[in-house]
Amino acid sequence: MAQPQMRRATESGVPDNQQFLHPLLKKNYGNWKYHDRPRPGVLHHVSHSGDEVWSVRAGTQRQMDVWTIRKLCDIADQYAEGHVRFTIRSNIEFMVSSAAKVAPLIAELEKSGFPVGGTGNSVSMIAHTQGWLHCDIPGTDASGVVKALMDELYDEFRREDMPNRVHLSTSCCEINCGGQADIAIIVQHTKPPKINHDLVANVCERPAVVARCPVAAIRPALVNGKPSLEVDEKKCICCGACYPPCPPMQINDPEHSKLAIWVGGKNSNARAKPTFMKMVAAGLPNNPPRWPEVSEAVKRILYAYKADARPWERLSDWIDRIGWPRFFERTELPFTKYLIDDWRGARANLNASTHIRF
Ligand code: SF4
Ligand code: SF4
Repeated sequence: MAQPQMRRATESGVPDNQQFLHPLLKKNYGNWKYHDRPRPGVLHHVSHSGDEVWSVRAGTQRQMDVWTIRKLCDIADQYAEGHVRFTIRSNIEFMVSSAAKVAPLIAELEKSGFPVGGTGNSVSMIAHTQGWLHCDIPGTDASGVVKALMDELYDEFRREDMPNRVHLSTSCCEINCGGQADIAIIVQHTKPPKINHDLVANVCERPAVVARCPVAAIRPALVNGKPSLEVDEKKCICCGACYPPCPPMQINDPEHSKLAIWVGGKNSNARAKPTFMKMVAAGLPNNPPRWPEVSEAVKRILYAYKADARPWERLSDWIDRIGWPRFFERTELPFTKYLIDDWRGARANLNASTHIRF
Protein backbone atom coordinates (compact mmCIF):
# COMPACT_ATOMS: atom_id res chain seq x y z
CA MET A 1 0.00 0.00 0.00
CA ALA A 2 1.34 3.43 -0.96
CA GLN A 3 2.60 5.47 1.98
CA PRO A 4 1.03 8.91 2.45
CA GLN A 5 3.38 11.56 1.13
CA MET A 6 4.25 14.77 2.95
CA ARG A 7 2.61 17.68 1.22
CA ARG A 8 5.34 19.78 -0.32
CA ALA A 9 5.35 23.53 -0.25
CA THR A 10 4.66 24.86 -3.71
CA GLU A 11 5.14 28.53 -3.04
CA SER A 12 8.09 29.26 -0.86
CA GLY A 13 9.90 32.17 -2.46
CA VAL A 14 12.59 32.11 -5.08
CA PRO A 15 14.43 28.83 -5.66
CA ASP A 16 18.00 28.39 -4.48
CA ASN A 17 20.13 30.07 -7.14
CA GLN A 18 23.13 27.77 -6.65
CA GLN A 19 21.59 25.12 -8.87
CA PHE A 20 21.51 27.56 -11.81
CA LEU A 21 24.99 29.02 -11.47
CA HIS A 22 27.64 28.58 -14.10
CA PRO A 23 29.91 25.78 -12.74
CA LEU A 24 32.88 28.15 -12.40
CA LEU A 25 30.80 30.67 -10.46
CA LYS A 26 29.63 27.90 -8.17
CA LYS A 27 33.12 26.55 -7.69
CA ASN A 28 34.55 29.98 -6.83
CA TYR A 29 31.60 31.33 -4.89
CA GLY A 30 32.88 33.94 -2.43
CA ASN A 31 36.47 33.37 -3.50
CA TRP A 32 37.08 36.13 -6.02
CA LYS A 33 40.37 37.99 -6.04
CA TYR A 34 39.45 40.95 -8.24
CA HIS A 35 37.44 41.97 -11.26
CA ASP A 36 37.86 44.47 -14.06
CA ARG A 37 36.11 45.52 -17.23
CA PRO A 38 38.06 44.84 -20.44
CA ARG A 39 35.46 46.83 -22.44
CA PRO A 40 31.97 48.24 -21.91
CA GLY A 41 29.51 45.41 -21.33
CA VAL A 42 32.11 42.84 -20.27
CA LEU A 43 33.04 41.97 -16.67
CA HIS A 44 36.12 39.87 -16.03
CA HIS A 45 36.35 38.06 -12.67
CA VAL A 46 39.52 36.38 -11.45
CA SER A 47 39.38 33.90 -8.61
CA HIS A 48 41.99 33.07 -5.96
CA SER A 49 42.03 29.60 -7.52
CA GLY A 50 43.23 31.11 -10.82
CA ASP A 51 39.92 30.55 -12.63
CA GLU A 52 38.67 33.38 -14.81
CA VAL A 53 35.13 34.16 -15.94
CA TRP A 54 33.94 36.74 -18.47
CA SER A 55 30.35 37.97 -18.18
CA VAL A 56 28.90 39.66 -21.25
CA ARG A 57 25.96 41.96 -20.50
CA ALA A 58 23.32 42.74 -23.09
CA GLY A 59 20.17 44.84 -23.11
CA THR A 60 16.84 43.35 -24.08
CA GLN A 61 13.39 44.77 -24.58
CA ARG A 62 12.54 43.46 -21.05
CA GLN A 63 9.03 42.23 -21.85
CA MET A 64 10.00 39.24 -23.91
CA ASP A 65 8.05 36.98 -26.20
CA VAL A 66 8.86 33.30 -26.41
CA TRP A 67 10.80 33.68 -29.67
CA THR A 68 13.14 36.22 -28.08
CA ILE A 69 13.73 33.93 -25.11
CA ARG A 70 14.46 31.01 -27.44
CA LYS A 71 16.84 33.21 -29.41
CA LEU A 72 18.70 34.20 -26.23
CA CYS A 73 18.84 30.56 -25.11
CA ASP A 74 20.21 29.51 -28.50
CA ILE A 75 22.92 32.16 -28.24
CA ALA A 76 23.73 30.93 -24.72
CA ASP A 77 24.07 27.35 -25.96
CA GLN A 78 25.99 28.14 -29.12
CA TYR A 79 28.25 31.07 -28.19
CA ALA A 80 28.37 30.90 -24.38
CA GLU A 81 28.33 27.95 -22.04
CA GLY A 82 24.62 27.47 -21.57
CA HIS A 83 24.22 29.67 -18.50
CA VAL A 84 22.61 33.10 -18.24
CA ARG A 85 21.38 35.34 -15.49
CA PHE A 86 19.36 38.55 -15.34
CA THR A 87 20.52 41.65 -13.50
CA ILE A 88 18.21 43.73 -11.35
CA ARG A 89 17.83 46.17 -14.23
CA SER A 90 16.72 43.36 -16.55
CA ASN A 91 19.88 43.01 -18.56
CA ILE A 92 20.91 39.50 -19.50
CA GLU A 93 24.43 38.22 -18.77
CA PHE A 94 26.18 35.32 -20.47
CA MET A 95 29.15 33.71 -18.69
CA VAL A 96 32.13 32.19 -20.52
CA SER A 97 35.37 30.67 -19.23
CA SER A 98 37.69 31.80 -22.01
CA ALA A 99 38.57 35.22 -23.41
CA ALA A 100 38.41 33.81 -26.95
CA LYS A 101 34.66 33.27 -26.65
CA VAL A 102 33.89 36.90 -25.79
CA ALA A 103 34.21 38.55 -29.23
CA PRO A 104 32.08 35.98 -31.16
CA LEU A 105 29.43 36.16 -28.43
CA ILE A 106 29.30 39.97 -28.63
CA ALA A 107 29.16 39.86 -32.43
CA GLU A 108 26.23 37.43 -32.36
CA LEU A 109 24.35 39.43 -29.72
CA GLU A 110 24.72 42.70 -31.60
CA LYS A 111 23.82 41.04 -34.89
CA SER A 112 20.62 39.77 -33.25
CA GLY A 113 19.72 43.26 -32.00
CA PHE A 114 20.83 43.01 -28.36
CA PRO A 115 23.23 45.87 -27.54
CA VAL A 116 26.16 44.97 -25.31
CA GLY A 117 26.83 47.49 -22.54
CA GLY A 118 25.24 48.73 -19.32
CA THR A 119 28.36 48.38 -17.17
CA GLY A 120 30.41 50.99 -15.34
CA ASN A 121 29.68 54.63 -16.05
CA SER A 122 27.02 54.00 -18.66
CA VAL A 123 23.32 54.72 -18.75
CA SER A 124 21.85 51.50 -17.45
CA MET A 125 18.78 49.78 -18.78
CA ILE A 126 15.70 51.49 -17.33
CA ALA A 127 14.23 49.61 -14.38
CA HIS A 128 10.52 49.60 -15.01
CA THR A 129 7.26 48.28 -13.77
CA GLN A 130 4.78 46.12 -15.59
CA GLY A 131 2.11 48.59 -16.58
CA TRP A 132 -0.79 47.30 -18.56
CA LEU A 133 0.63 43.79 -18.75
CA HIS A 134 -0.24 42.40 -15.34
CA CYS A 135 -0.98 45.11 -12.83
CA ASP A 136 -4.38 46.45 -11.89
CA ILE A 137 -3.60 50.12 -11.29
CA PRO A 138 -1.37 51.57 -13.99
CA GLY A 139 -2.03 55.03 -15.38
CA THR A 140 0.30 54.53 -18.32
CA ASP A 141 2.29 51.89 -20.11
CA ALA A 142 5.78 51.74 -18.57
CA SER A 143 7.36 49.30 -21.00
CA GLY A 144 6.58 51.57 -23.95
CA VAL A 145 8.25 54.55 -22.28
CA VAL A 146 11.31 52.38 -21.68
CA LYS A 147 11.50 51.23 -25.28
CA ALA A 148 11.05 54.76 -26.64
CA LEU A 149 13.66 56.23 -24.32
CA MET A 150 16.26 53.48 -24.65
CA ASP A 151 16.04 53.82 -28.44
CA GLU A 152 17.21 57.41 -27.90
CA LEU A 153 19.88 56.46 -25.36
CA TYR A 154 21.13 53.38 -27.20
CA ASP A 155 24.69 54.65 -27.54
CA GLU A 156 24.87 55.80 -23.93
CA PHE A 157 24.10 52.21 -22.91
CA ARG A 158 26.98 50.91 -25.06
CA ARG A 159 29.54 53.47 -23.89
CA GLU A 160 30.97 54.17 -20.47
CA ASP A 161 31.50 57.90 -20.71
CA MET A 162 29.11 59.32 -18.13
CA PRO A 163 30.66 60.89 -14.98
CA ASN A 164 29.29 57.98 -12.97
CA ARG A 165 26.69 55.31 -13.57
CA VAL A 166 23.20 56.61 -14.38
CA HIS A 167 20.22 54.60 -13.26
CA LEU A 168 16.84 55.35 -14.81
CA SER A 169 13.44 54.02 -13.84
CA THR A 170 9.81 54.40 -14.81
CA SER A 171 6.66 53.81 -12.86
CA CYS A 172 3.15 53.45 -14.15
CA CYS A 173 1.36 54.53 -10.98
CA GLU A 174 2.25 57.16 -8.39
CA ILE A 175 2.40 54.99 -5.34
CA ASN A 176 4.09 51.67 -5.79
CA CYS A 177 7.08 50.25 -7.60
CA GLY A 178 8.59 53.33 -9.26
CA GLY A 179 11.96 52.92 -7.69
CA GLN A 180 14.61 55.37 -6.69
CA ALA A 181 16.81 56.35 -9.60
CA ASP A 182 19.08 59.12 -10.82
CA ILE A 183 16.30 60.00 -13.24
CA ALA A 184 12.81 58.57 -12.79
CA ILE A 185 9.72 58.98 -14.92
CA ILE A 186 6.58 58.64 -12.84
CA VAL A 187 2.92 58.95 -13.74
CA GLN A 188 1.18 61.92 -12.16
CA HIS A 189 -2.58 62.18 -11.71
CA THR A 190 -3.74 65.77 -11.54
CA LYS A 191 -7.48 65.40 -10.80
CA PRO A 192 -9.30 63.51 -8.04
CA PRO A 193 -11.03 60.24 -8.99
CA LYS A 194 -14.44 60.23 -10.66
CA ILE A 195 -16.85 57.89 -8.92
CA ASN A 196 -19.35 55.66 -10.72
CA HIS A 197 -21.88 55.44 -7.88
CA ASP A 198 -23.94 52.72 -9.57
CA LEU A 199 -21.06 50.28 -9.30
CA VAL A 200 -19.47 51.08 -5.94
CA ALA A 201 -21.88 49.05 -3.80
CA ASN A 202 -21.48 45.97 -6.00
CA VAL A 203 -17.74 46.09 -6.55
CA CYS A 204 -15.98 47.75 -3.62
CA GLU A 205 -15.46 46.91 -0.01
CA ARG A 206 -16.08 50.43 1.23
CA PRO A 207 -14.24 50.33 4.60
CA ALA A 208 -11.14 49.02 2.82
CA VAL A 209 -11.29 51.92 0.37
CA VAL A 210 -11.81 54.49 3.14
CA ALA A 211 -8.85 53.05 5.04
CA ARG A 212 -6.67 53.15 1.96
CA CYS A 213 -6.68 56.94 1.54
CA PRO A 214 -3.51 58.44 3.07
CA VAL A 215 -5.15 61.82 3.76
CA ALA A 216 -8.59 60.61 4.93
CA ALA A 217 -10.34 62.23 1.98
CA ILE A 218 -12.85 59.40 1.39
CA ARG A 219 -16.09 59.05 3.33
CA PRO A 220 -18.94 56.56 3.06
CA ALA A 221 -22.02 58.20 1.55
CA LEU A 222 -25.52 57.30 0.39
CA VAL A 223 -26.03 58.32 -3.23
CA ASN A 224 -29.46 57.84 -4.85
CA GLY A 225 -30.35 55.56 -1.96
CA LYS A 226 -27.39 53.28 -2.59
CA PRO A 227 -24.30 52.91 -0.40
CA SER A 228 -21.38 54.62 -2.07
CA LEU A 229 -18.40 56.84 -1.32
CA GLU A 230 -17.53 60.48 -1.64
CA VAL A 231 -14.22 62.28 -1.95
CA ASP A 232 -13.34 65.55 -0.27
CA GLU A 233 -11.57 67.03 -3.28
CA LYS A 234 -9.88 69.76 -1.23
CA LYS A 235 -8.04 67.08 0.72
CA CYS A 236 -7.36 64.64 -2.13
CA ILE A 237 -3.73 64.56 -3.25
CA CYS A 238 -4.58 62.58 -6.42
CA CYS A 239 -2.37 59.68 -5.41
CA GLY A 240 -4.54 57.00 -7.02
CA ALA A 241 -4.43 54.67 -4.00
CA CYS A 242 -8.22 54.29 -3.92
CA TYR A 243 -8.48 53.01 -7.48
CA PRO A 244 -6.96 49.51 -6.96
CA PRO A 245 -9.45 48.35 -4.32
CA CYS A 246 -12.29 50.23 -6.00
CA PRO A 247 -12.10 50.39 -9.82
CA PRO A 248 -15.32 52.47 -10.01
CA MET A 249 -13.21 55.30 -8.51
CA GLN A 250 -11.49 55.87 -11.84
CA ILE A 251 -8.56 58.29 -11.69
CA ASN A 252 -6.87 57.53 -15.02
CA ASP A 253 -7.68 60.18 -17.54
CA PRO A 254 -6.22 60.64 -21.02
CA GLU A 255 -5.91 64.39 -20.50
CA HIS A 256 -5.26 64.81 -16.79
CA SER A 257 -3.00 61.84 -16.09
CA LYS A 258 0.47 63.18 -16.88
CA LEU A 259 4.09 62.21 -16.46
CA ALA A 260 6.58 63.79 -14.08
CA ILE A 261 10.36 63.53 -13.89
CA TRP A 262 12.18 63.11 -10.60
CA VAL A 263 15.96 63.22 -10.18
CA GLY A 264 18.72 62.54 -7.71
CA GLY A 265 17.62 59.24 -6.15
CA LYS A 266 20.33 56.88 -4.98
CA ASN A 267 19.98 53.64 -3.07
CA SER A 268 23.57 52.76 -2.35
CA ASN A 269 25.70 54.30 0.36
CA ALA A 270 28.83 54.25 -1.79
CA ARG A 271 30.80 57.52 -1.40
CA ALA A 272 27.77 59.43 -0.11
CA LYS A 273 24.64 58.51 1.77
CA PRO A 274 21.46 57.42 -0.03
CA THR A 275 19.25 60.23 -1.30
CA PHE A 276 15.59 60.70 -2.18
CA MET A 277 14.45 61.92 -5.55
CA LYS A 278 12.91 65.36 -6.11
CA MET A 279 10.49 66.37 -8.83
CA VAL A 280 11.93 68.64 -11.56
CA ALA A 281 9.36 68.41 -14.35
CA ALA A 282 5.62 68.12 -13.88
CA GLY A 283 2.64 67.74 -16.16
CA LEU A 284 4.45 66.33 -19.20
CA PRO A 285 1.93 64.87 -21.64
CA ASN A 286 1.46 61.12 -21.58
CA ASN A 287 2.03 60.89 -25.28
CA PRO A 288 2.47 57.37 -26.72
CA PRO A 289 3.94 55.71 -28.66
CA ARG A 290 7.23 57.68 -28.44
CA TRP A 291 6.69 60.10 -25.53
CA PRO A 292 8.79 62.83 -27.23
CA GLU A 293 8.32 65.44 -24.47
CA VAL A 294 9.57 63.03 -21.81
CA SER A 295 12.56 61.99 -23.94
CA GLU A 296 13.44 65.62 -24.52
CA ALA A 297 13.37 66.46 -20.79
CA VAL A 298 15.35 63.35 -19.80
CA LYS A 299 18.00 64.08 -22.41
CA ARG A 300 18.34 67.68 -21.23
CA ILE A 301 19.02 66.50 -17.69
CA LEU A 302 21.31 63.72 -18.80
CA TYR A 303 23.46 65.81 -21.11
CA ALA A 304 23.67 68.77 -18.72
CA TYR A 305 24.93 66.30 -16.11
CA LYS A 306 27.35 64.70 -18.55
CA ALA A 307 28.78 68.08 -19.58
CA ASP A 308 29.06 69.58 -16.12
CA ALA A 309 29.56 66.89 -13.48
CA ARG A 310 33.00 66.03 -12.17
CA PRO A 311 34.32 62.49 -12.52
CA TRP A 312 32.50 60.09 -10.17
CA GLU A 313 29.76 62.54 -9.19
CA ARG A 314 26.37 60.83 -9.23
CA LEU A 315 23.51 63.02 -10.39
CA SER A 316 22.58 63.83 -6.79
CA ASP A 317 26.20 64.80 -5.98
CA TRP A 318 26.29 67.09 -8.99
CA ILE A 319 23.07 68.84 -7.94
CA ASP A 320 24.32 69.14 -4.37
CA ARG A 321 27.43 70.88 -5.63
CA ILE A 322 25.85 73.30 -8.11
CA GLY A 323 22.54 73.85 -6.26
CA TRP A 324 18.97 73.65 -7.56
CA PRO A 325 18.84 77.13 -9.18
CA ARG A 326 21.79 76.23 -11.41
CA PHE A 327 20.29 72.83 -12.09
CA PHE A 328 17.25 74.53 -13.63
CA GLU A 329 19.46 77.01 -15.51
CA ARG A 330 21.69 74.32 -16.98
CA THR A 331 18.93 71.95 -17.94
CA GLU A 332 16.72 74.83 -19.16
CA LEU A 333 13.77 73.18 -17.48
CA PRO A 334 11.20 75.67 -16.21
CA PHE A 335 10.79 75.91 -12.44
CA THR A 336 7.03 76.21 -11.93
CA LYS A 337 4.66 76.35 -8.99
CA TYR A 338 3.81 72.71 -9.66
CA LEU A 339 7.21 71.69 -8.34
CA ILE A 340 6.52 73.24 -4.96
CA ASP A 341 5.26 70.83 -2.36
CA ASP A 342 2.18 72.64 -1.02
CA TRP A 343 0.46 69.66 0.53
CA ARG A 344 -0.91 70.41 3.98
CA GLY A 345 1.37 67.73 5.46
CA ALA A 346 4.39 69.38 3.85
CA ARG A 347 5.72 70.57 7.20
CA ALA A 348 6.99 67.04 7.63
CA ASN A 349 8.33 66.56 4.12
CA LEU A 350 9.44 69.96 2.80
CA ASN A 351 12.86 68.46 2.25
CA ALA A 352 11.33 66.58 -0.65
CA SER A 353 10.72 69.66 -2.78
CA THR A 354 13.33 71.40 -4.91
CA HIS A 355 12.56 74.93 -3.65
CA ILE A 356 13.88 74.17 -0.17
CA ARG A 357 17.63 73.91 0.18
CA PHE A 358 19.36 72.85 3.34
S1 SF4 B 1 4.18 51.01 -10.65
FE1 SF4 B 1 2.08 50.77 -9.91
S2 SF4 B 1 0.85 50.33 -11.74
FE2 SF4 B 1 3.00 49.95 -12.26
S3 SF4 B 1 3.29 47.76 -11.88
FE3 SF4 B 1 3.90 48.85 -10.00
S4 SF4 B 1 2.03 48.87 -8.73
FE4 SF4 B 1 1.44 48.37 -10.83
S1 SF4 C 1 -6.66 59.67 -5.01
FE1 SF4 C 1 -5.52 59.24 -3.10
S2 SF4 C 1 -5.88 61.07 -1.85
FE2 SF4 C 1 -7.42 61.09 -3.48
S3 SF4 C 1 -9.18 60.08 -2.59
FE3 SF4 C 1 -8.03 58.50 -3.66
S4 SF4 C 1 -6.69 57.62 -2.08
FE4 SF4 C 1 -7.44 59.58 -1.28
